Amino acid sequence: MLALAVVLVALQQPAPPASALPPQVGDTSPFRRLALPAPNLIREGSGRPGPRYWQQRADYTIRAALDTATHTIAGTATIRYANNSPDTLGYLWLQLDQNIYRADSRGAAVNPTDARFSGRGFEGGYTIAYVRAVRGGRSGGQAGKTPLATTLNGTMMRVNLDRPLGPGQVASLELGYSFEVPEHGSDRMGRERYPGGWLYEVAQWYPRVAVYDDVRGWNTEQYLGQGEFYLEYGDFDVAITVPRSFVVAATGTLANPLEVLTATQRARLVQAAKSDTTVPIIAKTEVGQPFTRPAGASPTLTWRFTARNVRDVAWAAAATFIWDASGYGGALIQSFYPPEANADWARSTEYARHSIKHYSEKWFRYPYANAINVAGPVGGMEYPMIVFCSSRSGQRGLFGVTTHELGHQWFPMIVGSNERLYAWMDEGFNSFTNIYSGLAFYHDTIPTGRGAGAQWAKFAATGLDEPPILAADRVAPRLLGQVEYNKPATGLYLLRHHILDDTTRFDAAFREYIRRWAYKHPTPAVLPHRRRGSGGGLGAHANGHERHHGLRIPLEPRRAPDARGPAPHLRQRHDREQAPPGRDLVFGQQCDLRPQGDGRIGEGGDRSGPELSGRATGEQRVDQTVTALHVGTSPEQRRYLLG
Ligand SMILES: [Zn+2]
Repeated sequence: MLALAVVLVALQQPAPPASALPPQVGDTSPFRRLALPAPNLIREGSGRPGPRYWQQRADYTIRAALDTATHTIAGTATIRYANNSPDTLGYLWLQLDQNIYRADSRGAAVNPTDARFSGRGFEGGYTIAYVRAVRGGRSGGQAGKTPLATTLNGTMMRVNLDRPLGPGQVASLELGYSFEVPEHGSDRMGRERYPGGWLYEVAQWYPRVAVYDDVRGWNTEQYLGQGEFYLEYGDFDVAITVPRSFVVAATGTLANPLEVLTATQRARLVQAAKSDTTVPIIAKTEVGQPFTRPAGASPTLTWRFTARNVRDVAWAAAATFIWDASGYGGALIQSFYPPEANADWARSTEYARHSIKHYSEKWFRYPYANAINVAGPVGGMEYPMIVFCSSRSGQRGLFGVTTHELGHQWFPMIVGSNERLYAWMDEGFNSFTNIYSGLAFYHDTIPTGRGAGAQWAKFAATGLDEPPILAADRVAPRLLGQVEYNKPATGLYLLRHHILDDTTRFDAAFREYIRRWAYKHPTPAVLPHRRRGSGGGLGAHANGHERHHGLRIPLEPRRAPDARGPAPHLRQRHDREQAPPGRDLVFGQQCDLRPQGDGRIGEGGDRSGPELSGRATGEQRVDQTVTALHVGTSPEQRRYLLG
């Protein structure tokens, strides 16, 4: 009783004034847990797609023709859109990427005319002839076609459906469209006149369905040039009509080789598919010769390609392609390049084969029938099964850009992240895997470009760094390569080798991420803190522990948890104070930082040789900025940043 009275009295005491409480302090540690969205049955707390995971599907049938007199592509696209969401949709959003080349586009407003992601003053854009809903007539009846109202908003077009599309239902749309192919299509597509004629690299070339997902509904971010793509998976049936003299390389399997190839070429392709080494399909001495095209009188040929479960289709065409190929694991590895390309393109298929084999064996088996490298005006750009790399690239630069663009087959072609919002999830992860492809090819042991902590630190010391979580279009263009490529790649490298200090666990987790999210749409929230399969992950603490739901799990690192400075093998390298020329970055040397987004260099690998010097004229280089700003960094800061 007495005790109860004491308690009651205590409860009646006025609360102490708030000012007497110590101020609340949030966790400001750089290793604090990230705020993540609450898990649900669609995206689980474990990082897995949940039992109710869904995503939309879009299958395309495209019939298009290239008019080489006007550089115009005109065609029809039929899109079968499967609504797997639990929602009823009244409209669909389509991506009309070519509208970035309208004079009044937001991309034109954002990009200086001479910028990498501009159209260099080209004015074009889509002409949409019609958009119709198509319904197949039952039991052989007439198919119904209903014109649909559309609303255009820059590079996005809303198509109002004539009847609601319920969960589980499929809508078929039919569009007629055309556009003129720009010469410089934001360094992602375009055309260039070589001595033998025009070479076309064609992408963003049909109205593409925007992604409707459980996280954001319709993803309607404009195409501004720098931010890449977010696309649904589906099957493609594509027919491309070109002049008879042209050879076409495209995403997918060639469906009509008898019509567009000679018997010799078909025999060579069969041989190449079984060959570890490069086999010519059209040799340099054969380029442009009439016998390289099948007999016939029609002025054009139609090439048909089919592709299953891809998020996009791109293609290239020219009358003067050298074409060679080899095989790996059932995939045909191919290169198409004009005779004027850098002579090192003769090694392109070797580089491509190494890359596909390396990534397949290390991370996730390459699932597609073809892997194609095309030389042309685009510096470096990736599409499913086909990549565009600069015809001017050579030496390690050509290897670097080839292995980078083909690495994109895993991120974002297989793991279908949202590139426009989260460039680090494709560029960063890909750049990380490129490190090991390069080390394996050149028999190196320490990364010299991306992944080299010292090089990253030198950039970080400038204070120019920006957060990779910024939407791709918001990163300063000249910093894109550092922020979205190099920083995540270096972070993963440090995590794999120095924080976890256990490549086996890291690799198991990384492979599991790819496996779980193959052909799906992961978000950043599926990654950090949630890789319990590894017993460690991006949430790993520098003090040798990581936290999962409040638990501290010792990681038993081989290095002392409080170890400072580079690992012994790195220190040894630094102590030598000299490296083989161009092969390593030693503190104090000129830092050769060549990120992508500086308006000049195509993405991927370190560009070397004449391409770099030739194209750099008059444009700002980040390494110059870095060198200039680096003078102001104190020795103490340098020691800290360089470990
Ligand atoms: Zn890339």
